[in-house]
Amino acid sequence: MTDTIGTATLVDWVTRFRDSIAENREWLTELDSAIGDADHGANMSRGMTAVVDKLASATPSTIDELLKSVGMTLVSSVGGASGPLYGTLFLRMGVSAGAVAELDAAGLAAALRAGVDGIVARGKAEAGDKTLIDAMSPAVDALDAGVSRGAGLADATAAAAKAAAAGRDSTLPLVARKGRASYLGERSAGHLDPGAASVTLLFDALADAVAGAS
Ligand code: ADP
Ligand code: MG
Repeated sequence: MTDTIGTATLVDWVTRFRDSIAENREWLTELDSAIGDADHGANMSRGMTAVVDKLASATPSTIDELLKSVGMTLVSSVGGASGPLYGTLFLRMGVSAGAVAELDAAGLAAALRAGVDGIVARGKAEAGDKTLIDAMSPAVDALDAGVSRGAGLADATAAAAKAAAAGRDSTLPLVARKGRASYLGERSAGHLDPGAASVTLLFDALADAVAGAS
């Protein structure tokens, strides 16, 4: 069996992410009420529900069209900062993947790398600014490292999920330098970043979808 993921696994990924966001909605709301405006759970829940509904009405047959649909839906359905940022992730992933039916581990890593670069270009956050980048960058680094050592998709995505969680936890003592939390200055320290928390759910869902497909 070849170690690749196709459109069905990507649909499973975003469906698992929608479900996990719904399960963790109160947690994300609490995190965002501490250092933001308490809408991250609602924003992500609205966006991912719209994403899965859209895919159910029209499931694209190529990876790029599918990722583009996810990204466009997030941009158009989520008002907060997270909508355009998560939307950019999926849109850039689609461009990187191209009109293929399957991605191998290297192709998935390259697509996620392009996605993170797109978020950085758009949001201008650097590592340590206490944003979702602090979970996403280490996750994609771990995926790349997995590909370099010849790991399969299941191992590489599990390593990425672990790195995302460590990155999320690293945001706890940080003072926010980007986004709404930066308005709080020093008072933003001592709380996890909500976006880094939802990114951990994203990578957990990816690892689970990949494990379920193999
Ligand atoms: P809003 O801040 O508009 O209320 P959300 O609450 O949905 O939007 O999302 C907040 C999250 O967005 C933050 O926790 C942070 O991770 C992320 N974020 C905000 N601004 C940026 C940025 N410039 N770059 C990267 N991530 C950001
Ligand atoms: Mg918010």
